[in-house]
Amino acid sequence: MRITYLAIAACVATLSSLTGMPAPAKAAGVDKLYILDCGTGSAPDQARWSPGVNVGVPLNVSDNCYLIHHAQGWFLWDTGIADAVAAMPDGLKGVNGAPDWIRKKTLAAQLDQLGVKPADIKAMAISHTHPDHIGNVELFPTVMLYVQKAEYEWPGVNGAPRFNPSHPVTKLEGDYDVFGDGSVTIISTPGHTPGHQSLLVRLPKTGAVVLSGDVAHFQDNWDNRRVPVFNTSKEESLASMDRIAGILAKEHAQLWINHDKPQSDAQKKSPDFYE
Ligand SMILES: [Zn+2]
Repeated sequence: MRITYLAIAACVATLSSLTGMPAPAKAAGVDKLYILDCGTGSAPDQARWSPGVNVGVPLNVSDNCYLIHHAQGWFLWDTGIADAVAAMPDGLKGVNGAPDWIRKKTLAAQLDQLGVKPADIKAMAISHTHPDHIGNVELFPTVMLYVQKAEYEWPGVNGAPRFNPSHPVTKLEGDYDVFGDGSVTIISTPGHTPGHQSLLVRLPKTGAVVLSGDVAHFQDNWDNRRVPVFNTSKEESLASMDRIAGILAKEHAQLWINHDKPQSDAQKKSPDFYE
């Protein structure tokens, strides 16, 4: 009897790994993920992100925000370039090789289209504190923000704080299971910045997805494990990419690279969604 049971259990485990579906219980609380357009960037030289490769070749990037619906409420991942950029006729000009940014629609308008008010958001997190990710944090002044302590305490320009000190915050030191059911997990991936983080989402139909943050900026850089010249730690960046690769293998997860424009252009955008 015992051997038979174990044999069946082994078959089920094998089937599960072949289909790549996460255990259903782990996706229990999450039912929808929306990809929001949070900006488009164009930079003069890709080599800023891929040292020595495609030098002088321009790079176009997407900039996405992700809105996740869970039985306990809405969760927002990254906030994109500031909504104010949408009103600038020529967009926001980049300096020192950083991208020029335009915003075709605001984050506020896209939430409004879904009937979601900023106060309806239960919790939010940002991958890191670069301006193309934190531009609209204060659109949600009362929403709990999950950020790594190392990022929160990283001094900004002239030592300025990176967040409004009155914004409610939970300072993390490592991974964090947001809803306590394994459906949405913040993954600590330092290197691009001192407290950079990524997000593992276990969706009921799509399966597991890792939202990259800027652990890599586009597919070719990911495939070749390239580290941009301006990352705060090359060693940590490589370790974080290794860590994400391990999670992708274990979870049979897709890697959704925030700034990879060809990948992003092929994805469903809000008000459409992934289940
Ligand atoms: Zn970025």
